[in-house]
Amino acid sequence: MKVLGIETSCDETGVAVYDTAVGGASGLRAHAVYSQIALHAEYGGVVPELASRDHVRKLLPLIRQTLAEAGLSTTDIDGVAYTAGPGLVGALLVGAGVARALAWGLDVPAIGVHHMEGHLLAPLMEDDPPAAPFVALLVSGGHTQLVAVDAIGRYRLLGETLDDAAGEAFDKTAKMMGLPYPGGPQLAALAEHGTPGAFRFARPMTDRPGLDFSFSGLKTQVLLAWRGSDQADATRRDIARGFEDAVVDTLAIKCARALDAAGCDTLVVAGGVGANTRLRAKLQADARRRGGRVCFPRPALCTDNGAMIAFAGALRLAAGQYDDATVRATPRWDMASLSSVAAAT
Ligand code: ATP
Ligand code: MG
Ligand code: FE
Repeated sequence: MKVLGIETSCDETGVAVYDTAVGGASGLRAHAVYSQIALHAEYGGVVPELASRDHVRKLLPLIRQTLAEAGLSTTDIDGVAYTAGPGLVGALLVGAGVARALAWGLDVPAIGVHHMEGHLLAPLMEDDPPAAPFVALLVSGGHTQLVAVDAIGRYRLLGETLDDAAGEAFDKTAKMMGLPYPGGPQLAALAEHGTPGAFRFARPMTDRPGLDFSFSGLKTQVLLAWRGSDQADATRRDIARGFEDAVVDTLAIKCARALDAAGCDTLVVAGGVGANTRLRAKLQADARRRGGRVCFPRPALCTDNGAMIAFAGALRLAAGQYDDATVRATPRWDMASLSSVAAAT
């Protein structure tokens, strides 16, 4: 089954085709992402109305481009998957409207996909995928969650951030230190050249039991260190390194706890911060020490993309699940309310 995936929940327009008959990494026939970063840069953050309008401009050309790259025409498509939430309502409506109309016109089923389930399942698109049960760490711009995955589609929240998401903390900290929007990846790049230990920040909420996170205080700690410093380039690099190490350590400590609590040896990491080199290395080292396994998507599939939506939708469509003709946009949507994929088969 060839499934067209459409992602428009925030500031990336993503389109992909995933073929379940092929499966694995090769099942991804083509994928393309158009990022609106330049559009929002002068405002220092995503402007929802501008995001919606740009999705309108870019989505159809991107669908044509992706199908051409896959060597397919619209009539080859057996199903359409689109991000139905959570996200910006106007942005979601653009993808949902186009996806629903296309499915209607082609007389194929369509399904609204949960954006975070898309992130969570992205590592399963790679070769040698992990099997449930496992623990997932979702670390993105809007979420920091530890989730017990009992089966595909059956998710239990083990812990989450009480304030900023990890990616949000990266972006806000970068902004405070004068880096251009969106600063997360740039802060991480600077940290590569910083001196470890030159600045040491707290590992928030690791001194007490529990699986929740808090990154807001860490951000303030970094702001005070930055204000009190000489603000030289070398200092910026050292502070970036101190901040990154604090976030990575905190995430790693809570992941180990979550694996213990769930009695699992497999960790799956997804979302934009999952592209962070130091986080990947730290969690790999921890997994080796524990005798367990950690699985990531390739870095390009950590941040928002259409491939994860095509894949997550394809699993459900192939199991016989699909939506009625409603154009669905659900800005707030609890992942625990999803149904098991296997239940429909
Ligand atoms: P959500 O998925 O929660 O709705 P989102 O879709 O905006 O949020 P993603 O696209 O998954 O989030 O990820 C973007 C976030 O990842 C940004 O906050 C960005 O700073 C962060 N990020 C991307 N690359 C890196 C990196 N190498 N190191 C640290 N953070 C990174
Ligand atoms: Mg984005
Ligand atoms: Fe995302």
